Amino acid sequence: MEQKAHILVVEDEQKIRSALRDFLEFHGFKVTEAVDGLEAERVVAKKGFDLILLDLMLPKISGEQLCTKWRRDGLQTPVIMLTAKGQQKEKVMGLNIGADDYITKPFSLEELLARIKTVLRRTDPARAVGQTFKFADLDVDIAALKVKRGGQEIEITRREAAIIQYFAANPNRVISREELYKEVWDETMSDLGTRTTDMHIAKLRSKIEKNSAEPQIIKTVRGAGYKYET
Ligand code: CA
Repeated sequence: MEQKAHILVVEDEQKIRSALRDFLEFHGFKVTEAVDGLEAERVVAKKGFDLILLDLMLPKISGEQLCTKWRRDGLQTPVIMLTAKGQQKEKVMGLNIGADDYITKPFSLEELLARIKTVLRRTDPARAVGQTFKFADLDVDIAALKVKRGGQEIEITRREAAIIQYFAANPNRVISREELYKEVWDETMSDLGTRTTDMHIAKLRSKIEKNSAEPQIIKTVRGAGYKYET
């Protein structure tokens, strides 16, 4: 049986917090609430969550400080920031401090649900640290930075692992270089970015493709990007 994804809701406004809990539980999530930054810090240290909904403006420790600290400590749990209208600067900061997405209040719960599902889908292989997952005919061990084909072990870099994770989480969809660069490098596309992504894909192909001149795992979609087909 699939386990319910466990979401931590960090929000000081009681009405919003309760509404989020009701809505998320109705949609099959397990929910824990935290009323301020301190409580959030305490529960995160004790429990593993699949996702954190983090209000930006919180008493005691702000959402921004919390997220920065969590990322510095190596916490990989995806974070969606809840920001208020007019916090444009904070929004951008939200992403720079390691949030996976943000949503502006007042938001529709349906939109939030869609965001949550997207983030969970995208980050799923990342949460499987210590386990292997299948990528074409390869077994990928992210924690060990290794891929295996039959008895053959191939070492990969952290960046190559991140590229594999991203394709594995987004099969059968054309991924543009812009998207790949934004997601894996967390940078906005530039000429340098185009070269960087191409170089990394070429290097990765030389490791994982049987014939890198005719790639079968990460395919080139001419003029559009790359695609991993399952
Ligand atoms: Ca607040």
